[in-house]
Order: sequence, then C-alpha cells, then structure tokens
Amino acid sequence: MDFDMSDEQIMFRNMAREFALREIIPVAAEDDKNAHYRPETVQKMAALGLLGAPMPQEYGGLGVDYITYLCVCEEIARASAGVFTTCLTVHTSLFQLPILKFGNDELKHRYLSRTTKGELLGCFGMTEPNTGSDVAGIELSAASSGNNWILNGTKMWISSGGVADLALVIAQTDKSKRHRGMAAFLVERGTPGFSSSDIHGKMGLRDSNTAELIFENCQVPAENIVGEIGEGFKVGMYALDCGRLSTAAACVGVSQASIDAAVQYAQERIQFGKPIASFQLIQEMIADMVVETEVARNYVFRAADLKNKGLPFVKEASIAKYYAAEVALRSAQKAIKIHGGYGYSNDYPVERYYRDAMGLCLYEGTAEIQKLIIGREILGIPAFV
Ligand SMILES: Cc1cc2nc3c(=O)[nH]c(=O)nc-3n(C[C@H](O)[C@H](O)[C@H](O)COP(=O)(O)OP(=O)(O)OC[C@H]3O[C@@H](n4cnc5c(N)ncnc54)[C@H](O)[C@@H]3O)c2cc1C
Repeated sequence: MDFDMSDEQIMFRNMAREFALREIIPVAAEDDKNAHYRPETVQKMAALGLLGAPMPQEYGGLGVDYITYLCVCEEIARASAGVFTTCLTVHTSLFQLPILKFGNDELKHRYLSRTTKGELLGCFGMTEPNTGSDVAGIELSAASSGNNWILNGTKMWISSGGVADLALVIAQTDKSKRHRGMAAFLVERGTPGFSSSDIHGKMGLRDSNTAELIFENCQVPAENIVGEIGEGFKVGMYALDCGRLSTAAACVGVSQASIDAAVQYAQERIQFGKPIASFQLIQEMIADMVVETEVARNYVFRAADLKNKGLPFVKEASIAKYYAAEVALRSAQKAIKIHGGYGYSNDYPVERYYRDAMGLCLYEGTAEIQKLIIGREILGIPAFV
C-alpha cells in the first residue's frame, strides 16, 4: 500500500476543502441552529461532480477511487457532518453504489446518471420503528400482484427521506424466511401510497433532513427491484458496508475540526498570564486527539484500499466505523474541555461537533453492532443461520 496521496487525491481533497470553506462553513452554525437544510448546497456539489464521485463516467460520475471519495467525505464533514450525511454517505454510498452493484442495466441507465447530475437525490431505508439493529426482523411487507409489488409499512430515521426523489428500501417478500425473504425496491417520490413525514428535534446533524417513510398499498413495478427477490438483505448489507467507510471518513473530519478549533482557541485564550496552549495538560489533550485522529484516518484509508482492490472489506469497514466514531466523540469532548465554559455554548462550534459525532456513532450500526460484526468475522460465524 502506497501511503503517499496521488496528485488526483490531493486535488479532490483541496477542491472539497475550498468548497466547504466557501459554501458550508459560513452557514453551518446558523443552519444547525435553525435545523435548516439547503437544497442549493446539494446542487452546487453536483455541479462539481461530488454527488457520485466514485461512480463510473458511463453514469456521469468522476470514476475516482474510494480513497479519493473518502478524502472528499472527510473535508465536507469537517465543515458540517449534516451536509455530509445528506449529500454524500446516503446519496452515494447507500443509494448509488448498491444500485451500481446489484441493479440491472435498464435501472442503472434510467436513474444513475440523473443522480450524479443532482437531478434526483436518493435515500436508503432499512430501519423501522420496531427494528434497527435487528435488520432481519424488518416488517415492511411486499406482496406480489401481477407485474407490481404492493408495499405496506414504515421506515424510520431515514436521512434525506423527506427531500429525496428516490428511495431504495428493503422489504420482506416472505417473512417466514427472515433475511432470506427480502428484496430491495426503488420507489419514486410521487408513487401513489408513498409519503414521508419529517422528524424534528434531532440532537445533532440538524442541517440534514431526516424522515419517516410511509407505504400504504404502494404499487412498485417489478422492474424496480434491485437485485433478485431474496437478495434484499445482501443489497442492504453491501450498502451499509460502503456507508460505514464513508461515515468513518466523516468521523475523521469531525475529529479534525475539533482539533482545528481546540488548537486555535488554546493559542488565543490567556490564563495565568499565558496562552493555555503553553500548559502541558492542554498539550496532552491535543496530542491525544491528534494521535487518535491520525490512526483513524490511516485505518479508514486501509479499509478503502481493500475496496479499491475488490477485496473483502466488511470487517475493516466495521473496525473503521467503530473506531473513528468513538474518536470523533472523544475529540469533540476534549475540544469542549479546552474551550472551558465557552465550549458549552453555541458561540463556538465544538458543542455542534459533539452532537454531530453522537449521531455518527449511531447510524449505519451502533458501536455494539460493529463489535458483533468484527467478532463474527474473526470467528467465522455467519450473521444468520
Ligand atoms: C441521524 C440518524 C440518521 C439515520 N439515517 C438512517 C438512514 O438513512 N437509513 C436507515 O435505514 N437508518 C437510519 N438511521 C437509523 C440507524 O441506523 C439506527 O438508529 C441504528 O441502526 C440503531 O437502531 P435503533 O435506533 O433501532 O436502536 P436499537 O437497535 O433498538 O438499539 C438500542 C441499543 O441496544 C443496543 N443493541 C441492540 N442489539 C444489540 C445486541 N445484539 N447486542 C448488544 N447491544 C445491542 C444498541 O447498540 C443500542 O445501544 C439513522 C439514525 C439516526 C439517529
């Protein structure tokens, strides 16, 4: 593995950083306060090719490798993890990539180019009111009816769910078969029987949209099935594996933002007649943040390198997501401590980083679920028998 970044990777990282500085950072605090989602940011990212960077050029993507894509994720999340959630991990990792892998040519040509151009935004629905970690227990039902499937049930906590034009949802076609009885359906907004209801009052990631998806006798054409009947679990797990890599990169971004803020504040704040940066206990906190962030960043790239090479990356994606999320939370907490009382107010961004990091810890599988996956992978135990 080459530890030097290529010129292309540096160019994309810098482009994302400049975009974040210009378009996201000036409004991030205000949008967090007002829980304001900006569709115009999505369109501006699309214009730069960032709404499908790893997608092949055939589908309007930039065809970049996964490390380059994760550099973009890190930079966007360093400015706002909410914008990252809505524009990158959900749209690209959880929606486009599983369609690219499992969708037939007709589906790919019909939808993917329009999603990379930003004409259509995608979301991904696995979680339900009664099932989160226990994905095999989902209850959204799909019943065959001629050339259609009739969907009934609800998806919960769906990022971009209230603003997306397309939803990739996992449903049960045969409940008795649990994870073997699932299929993945692509549902267009506007399909009769499909509606959404925004979720308000989130602790963090407040500039992203999160919603409940409701299916009431919603007829979806059979040609909108992604993969085969019975493959829904596989499609969903692939989406989550890809999503864990990008979320891990976003956690590195939040952790880096915490370091940036802590370093600046420590150099400006005077106590006992000196900048607090001169106190070794403050330096220790910053050193711990930097060590953990560097280790997380390098491991995220290691996992992405496996994906680039087409090698299995399930265990590595879970290690990266688990570790980077915990690091983001710890870094944000230390940044608050370094800011003292000011860190406890929204005059400074560090309390937002903490709230956002908590959200990143939860979605695409909690720490406990990542540990279960890692344990199973090491011991060679199948997820379900
Ligand atoms: C901001 C946000 C955005 C989200 N976006 C999406 C999205 O776009 N699409 C989507 O499908 N979902 C999304 N989710 C849902 C998210 O993936 C789930 O919240 C998460 O997987 C946990 O499920 P749950 O909330 O039902 O918790 P539960 O599964 O009920 O878990 C509750 C607690 O029990 C623990 N637990 C559960 N099972 C075990 C076990 N076997 N062993 C040990 N501990 C266990 C968990 O770790 C957790 O601490 C989002 C959530 C949030 C907060």
